[in-house]
Amino acid sequence: MTSSNHLLIVGSIAFDDLDLPSGNHRDVAGGAATYSALAASLLLRDRVRIVGVVGDDFPQPVLDELRARGIDSSGVERASGRTFRWHGRYSTDLASRATLDTQLNVFADFRPKIPAEQCTSPFVLLGNIHPALQLDVLGQLQRPRLAAADTMNFWIEREPKALEELLRRIDLLVINDEEARQLSGIHNLVRAAADIRKRGPRMLIVKRGEFGALLFDEAGPFFVPAYPLEEVLDPTGAGDSFAGGLMGYLAARGDVSPAAMRAAMFFASALGSFCVEAVGPARLLAANRSHLAARIASFARLVEHGSDLALPL
Ligand code: AMP
Repeated sequence: MTSSNHLLIVGSIAFDDLDLPSGNHRDVAGGAATYSALAASLLLRDRVRIVGVVGDDFPQPVLDELRARGIDSSGVERASGRTFRWHGRYSTDLASRATLDTQLNVFADFRPKIPAEQCTSPFVLLGNIHPALQLDVLGQLQRPRLAAADTMNFWIEREPKALEELLRRIDLLVINDEEARQLSGIHNLVRAAADIRKRGPRMLIVKRGEFGALLFDEAGPFFVPAYPLEEVLDPTGAGDSFAGGLMGYLAARGDVSPAAMRAAMFFASALGSFCVEAVGPARLLAANRSHLAARIASFARLVEHGSDLALPL
């Protein structure tokens, strides 16, 4: 198989325990790579590849469901032991969450091994794993056209050196506002973004949950809102769905220009909005391309102001 515009996603595949205001849910199949791949697969048919590890307790039907959506899971290793588990509890307004438990299990010894035919993938999304592993993955690949990475406070605090090296090697960093502030030590997001971009990535996306997301690149700052929903059930995986949607769109267009990035931000936000509408990845699993087209059309109406915004005389 050629690697024409394929998207390689590396990251966690998990069982999540979710304590939500609407109720508690146990053993929900999730993980950053799962959410990203499902989101990307709506835009990039049969060209999404996922690399991760599961234990022998992980149900084969879940991997089959990914495959049914055209996601190549041949790079998912099945190790003996238990699958990675994460337990999160959300506040009643869903605005914040606490991690109650993380069990690395088979993830502890995970050394991603990229299948030979996937090493030429031109689009790569490095999910939130140890930055040394993210670097190791990059080392296995031919220089991709667009290398994007996510990270989190845990690695910012504990692995600053590996993270600095990673920043030098990627084109795009996708993080949330808290992480951008922590990584730069600067509260103002515009200044924080300038600082982070100086350290390597040409582009930075700062996700702000229900307050949308900001892109910083050579064409200046760009903003996309979060789609306003009547009911949000579970924010788990929204950031990963955003990143997967973004990369899926760019890979499908085969374009990484500032104009394509700006359009991709809407698809990213649309997929993030699907994700939060149900518990776990259920809504992403139920979504199809016409649902996505409808949400994109609503998005266009959301920001269409019908004016050239000239000052009135
Ligand atoms: P998000 O809500 O976008 O931050 O992503 C949530 C997903 O990330 C869940 O499905 C978890 O299984 C996964 N996750 C949580 N903590 C970690 C971690 N330390 N490393 C990798 N994945 C994680």
